[in-house]
Amino acid sequence: MSVRRVSVFGATGSIGQNTVDLIARDPDSYNVVALTGASNIAQLAQDAQKLNADVAVTADESRLDDLRQLLKGTGVEAAAGPTALNEAAARPSDWVMSAIVGAAGLQPGLSALEQGATLALANKESLVCAGKLILKTAKDHSARILPVDSEHSAVFQALIGEDMAAVERVIITASGGAFRDWPLDQLEHATLAEASSHPNWDMGQRITIDSASMFNKAMELIETREYFGCTPEQIEVLVHPESMIHAMVGFNDGALMAHVGPPDMRHAIGFALHWPERKTLPVERLDLARIGALTFRAPDDVRWPALRLAREVMERGGMAGAVFNAAKETALDGFIAGQLKFTQMAGVVEDVLSAVDADQSHIDATMTLDNVMQVDHLARKAAWAQIRTKAG
Ligand code: NDP
Repeated sequence: MSVRRVSVFGATGSIGQNTVDLIARDPDSYNVVALTGASNIAQLAQDAQKLNADVAVTADESRLDDLRQLLKGTGVEAAAGPTALNEAAARPSDWVMSAIVGAAGLQPGLSALEQGATLALANKESLVCAGKLILKTAKDHSARILPVDSEHSAVFQALIGEDMAAVERVIITASGGAFRDWPLDQLEHATLAEASSHPNWDMGQRITIDSASMFNKAMELIETREYFGCTPEQIEVLVHPESMIHAMVGFNDGALMAHVGPPDMRHAIGFALHWPERKTLPVERLDLARIGALTFRAPDDVRWPALRLAREVMERGGMAGAVFNAAKETALDGFIAGQLKFTQMAGVVEDVLSAVDADQSHIDATMTLDNVMQVDHLARKAAWAQIRTKAG
């Protein structure tokens, strides 16, 4: 069996650590090119040494000396900063996990595609803020993108061997997050600790809060459109508190193909790692008789305004996704910093979308990396202005 060259961007995070875990179980099958992190350089150095990576990169330039110190005598090269991240992504690899959180994951993902690597895409922000650019870059360099989000991995799997022309609808499920059953009038008092605790999934803090606000599902609606080329009307969100069915695809003969599996990201990561084969994965085997019942309900637009905003973004097209993502990331920063209430985040995003939409030139700009980053910058500035107004 040939040894594959693999890299993990965002290796110190929740997705990254699960990826490292799967690679470490079969070390002879992989030659690890690059592992990257940001603040957690102890974990980065430990994993880079364990997997004998060629290079370990921290996004934080001020930590380079510390990282060098930790890697002294190991034979692993140390590097730091955004340029070093891109250089690492440009090193020839067969498979690259994109699991940096936020728009910071966009550029390394593009660099990996430009050198023809298969991109296992967890970083949903890249597809939301620059979907067309990511897809075009993949096409231009004959590179493949494999979805890692559990919902999109599920849709991808349900579509194997199927004709897209026979697809009527795609249903992505949502657990409903931490506040699914809270009385609406208490949501504005939700604390950071309460929003950071997910009923089913163990994930990074930002995506956990985004699950409570449904901004995560809103991002996934946009991702579904980009990945599978569906119209917005074909994509439905279904609240499914047990998080066992990740997505369903409905066909023109009335059949619904559902992907059922435990809420463990190692399934979607492992599927992308081993694709097109299936290999044994260390995830729970579901005992449906013990589980007994799976339940479903329609999403509530009042509780989760993010879903309506995502539909507006799909309607507007162009760079609206970049505005949405940047405003959402900034509103989340504001909530984490204690400057915004939980229920104020959606208002910030809506106001920023309207403000940038008023200057249509930004929405209509050609989708290049520079333009996306410029729109991202403008939207973040507008969002901070909104946060200051609301906090004041
Ligand atoms: P985490 O917050 O757990 O990890 C984020 C990773 O990105 C860490 O390695 C972190 O480094 C690194 N990082 C943070 N900021 C920067 C930066 N500015 N530049 C470069 N690297 C940076 O996030 P998750 O693993 O939860 O999520 C990663 C991505 O995957 C997100 O886009 C998320 O939406 C998506 N996703 C996550 C799922 C999950 O189950 N967790 C499911 C589906 C998608 P450090 O920790 O060293 O600071």
